Amino acid sequence: MTDLTRLSAATLAEKLRAREVTSVQVTQAFLDRIAAVDDAVHAFLHVSAQDALATARDVDVARAAGEDLHPLAGVPIAVKDVVVTKGLPSTAGSKILEGWIPPYDATLVEKIRAARLPILGKTNMDEFAMGSSTEHSAYGNTHNPWDLDRIPGGSGGGSAAALAAFEAPLAIGTDTGGSIRQPGAVTGTVGVKPTYGSVSRYGLIALASSLDQAGPVTRTVMDSALLHELIGGHDPRDSTSIDEPLPPLVEAARQGASGDLSGLKVGVVTQLQGEGYQPGVQARFEESLDLLREAGAEIVEVSCPHFEYALAAYYLILPAEASSNLAKFDGMRFGLRVEPDEGPVTAERVMAATRGAGFGDEVKRRIILGTYALSAGYYDAYYGSAQKVRTLIQRDFDEAFAQVDVLVSPTAPTTAFKLGEKLDDPLAMYLNDVATIPANLAGVPGISVPSGLAGDSTEDDGLPTGFQVLAPAKADDRLYRVGAALEAALEARWGGPLLDRAPELG
Ligand code: GLN
Repeated sequence: MTDLTRLSAATLAEKLRAREVTSVQVTQAFLDRIAAVDDAVHAFLHVSAQDALATARDVDVARAAGEDLHPLAGVPIAVKDVVVTKGLPSTAGSKILEGWIPPYDATLVEKIRAARLPILGKTNMDEFAMGSSTEHSAYGNTHNPWDLDRIPGGSGGGSAAALAAFEAPLAIGTDTGGSIRQPGAVTGTVGVKPTYGSVSRYGLIALASSLDQAGPVTRTVMDSALLHELIGGHDPRDSTSIDEPLPPLVEAARQGASGDLSGLKVGVVTQLQGEGYQPGVQARFEESLDLLREAGAEIVEVSCPHFEYALAAYYLILPAEASSNLAKFDGMRFGLRVEPDEGPVTAERVMAATRGAGFGDEVKRRIILGTYALSAGYYDAYYGSAQKVRTLIQRDFDEAFAQVDVLVSPTAPTTAFKLGEKLDDPLAMYLNDVATIPANLAGVPGISVPSGLAGDSTEDDGLPTGFQVLAPAKADDRLYRVGAALEAALEARWGGPLLDRAPELG
């Protein structure tokens, strides 16, 4: 029998519909794979085998009874641990939430459960989604399945590694500055940050509320489209949710896969390439541009002059919002509670002891930065200026999208770096997100599609690289059209998916 764990979610869905396999068989295959390789990869913080199998059995019974089911019913999924799941641990990678079992589901989890996708478990991440390597998790790092000594990206390294190691056919990520797209790029998987407000934030443990966006993590562009259509749409419980239907995403992916991009205008962002980008990353990016051109797209260069300041603005806005969002972890309401070693047990002292013990270094660093940037006397100079820069970046996007249909760049400037390499250098870590952050500041959608391996010359390392496509807000369908066309052209050239070339694990 074929190895079910290697199949795309779309193919699994077809086989389930045709009753060639049962959801129990599919779910068990992924649970077996997790048991075989997750000691080495550590993509999961929690595996919910019994719950997943119970859902799988229900789907199989419902299908046998001829019930009308969602197209993805019975296809298992992994969920990033920053997303609240009723009855399942949800730690956001932090000690401060250890032992907390949420009493409710995030809206996107409700949708997943209503469509009856078995939830395999919760995936590892940088604490409160702060980081680009998953090394800031309080529960140990995740390893990149392409090279176990390398980072899987972050903050959603667990979801991306689960996909790349064939431990799940679908996963959920969240992207505040690149945490879906950069892990996708460095693990050879697909990741989509939808338009801000198009997938509900209700039940996400907030990092920076004006930037956070949940989205799909998959192995193919079509699988992302299928998952995006499932989790997206208006939610009255999220005040920033867009009250409009999503554009037709699956249809756009299907169109794109036919390989015809004639009439499409693609803008290469001048500021998101060249200096600082690894030669192999740049080379794969240019090859992908050639393929888009061959598919009929017109390629032009577009300047977005304020993108240069995106990282600086982000690292004021994000810590400011994070310091406020994280104030609720006070030792009283959720998870960890630590009492002071000596002296009176006052609320303030319990709060200090709990936060001191429960938060890691990166979280403390950002809370200090954020409270400083928001403090009286500094607010205008720091937070206020950063918000003005944000407006200028949004205008750069508006002007660019008046000239072209989509913008493109490498997703991340480098391939996966070695575990430990940037851990003591926060600024070097932050630089990994130069190309992904502008989209969050403007609320526009982005996709990362695998674009190849970065050669094996001295500067390069034979590791995966990603190609990023950005579209105007609410035009997420363009990501799928271009992403699917590029994927089809690259796979024709490679003779199959990039992940076929990843080393065997287990
Ligand atoms: N790496 C970025 C950061 O550390 C992005 C995080 C994210 O998207 N959650 O903030």
